[in-house]
Amino acid sequence: MQTDRQPADAPAPATDSILGFTVPGRSARGRVVRLDATLDAILHAHAYPEPLARVLAEALVLTALVGSTLRGDEGQMTLQAQAKGGPVDLLVCDYRGGELRGYLRFDPARIDEVGPQASLQTIFGDGYLAITLDQTASDERYQGIVPLEGDTLAQAVERYFESSEQIPTLLRIAVARDAGRWRAGGLLVQHLPASELGGPRLHVERGHPDWEHVAALGGSISAAELVDDGLPLDMLLWRLYHEEETRVLPAVALTRGCRCSAAYIKGVLARFSEPELAEMREADGMVKVDCAFCATLFHIEV
Ligand SMILES: [Zn+2]
Repeated sequence: MQTDRQPADAPAPATDSILGFTVPGRSARGRVVRLDATLDAILHAHAYPEPLARVLAEALVLTALVGSTLRGDEGQMTLQAQAKGGPVDLLVCDYRGGELRGYLRFDPARIDEVGPQASLQTIFGDGYLAITLDQTASDERYQGIVPLEGDTLAQAVERYFESSEQIPTLLRIAVARDAGRWRAGGLLVQHLPASELGGPRLHVERGHPDWEHVAALGGSISAAELVDDGLPLDMLLWRLYHEEETRVLPAVALTRGCRCSAAYIKGVLARFSEPELAEMREADGMVKVDCAFCATLFHIEV
C-alpha cells in the first residue's frame, strides 16, 4: 500500500474527514469517511426525532462520499429526495469543498410511523432521489434521477450509479449514537473505466472479476469499524485492501458549512413587492427568516 503523504506528515485523522483511494490494478476507486462533531452540529441544529436524524445522517455520509469524488474543490454536489405519501416529503444535503449541510421536512403527526429499521417506502412513500453535480469552473450541470426504492438511501444511490452512470458501486453506511453524540461512517467503492485511472479503457460490467474482488473486500467492512473513531481511516483501508496495491490520497477535512448570510436573504427579500413585505414584517418591523439548512434565524430590516 502506498500513500501520497510524506512520512513526516501526521497520521490520517480518525474522524470528520474523508480519504480517497484507488486500486489501480483493479480499476477501482473509493472514499472512506467518518463524521463526528460535524454530524453532531448539523443534527443538533434541527432537533429531529431520532429515526429521522438517522436518515439525515445517512444522507450526509452519502453526500460526502459522492461529493468528494468531484474534480477540484469548486464543484457542488446536491442530494435531494422528494416524495409524497410518507412522513418525510423532502430531504436535501449538499457538499462543496469539504463543507456539508442538510435538512429534511417531515409531518410531526406521522413520526410514529418511522421505526428503527424503516424502509424508504415507510419513510418517504413514493418519490425520487436526484443527484446534481455542478462544476463551477466549467459551468456544467448534470442531474441524474432514480426512484426512491430499496431498503436504504445507500441502496438507492447504488442504483443511481448503476442506472444513470453505468458505474458498479458499493456503498456501506453506519450511524451510531452514544450518550447523545452522533457518529457515522461510510465506504464507497466504484469500478471505473481504466482510462480514468491512466490505463486502457475497459468494458465496465458488474460481473467483472476485478470488480467482484474489490467489492467483496469492501463489503467485508463492519458497521462497528465504520463508526469506530479509534480506528484511523488509513488503518481501516489497510484492513480492507492490504493485499492490493492501493494509493491513498491526502485526507480532506469535513466541516459543517452553510452559505446563508443576512446579505443574501436581504437580496431575496428585495424581490418581493412592498405589500408582500408589509405582510411579512412582524411587530418590531423586522422580517424573520430562518435558513432551512442550518436553522439560523435572521432578523432582516427591509
Ligand atoms: Zn444556513
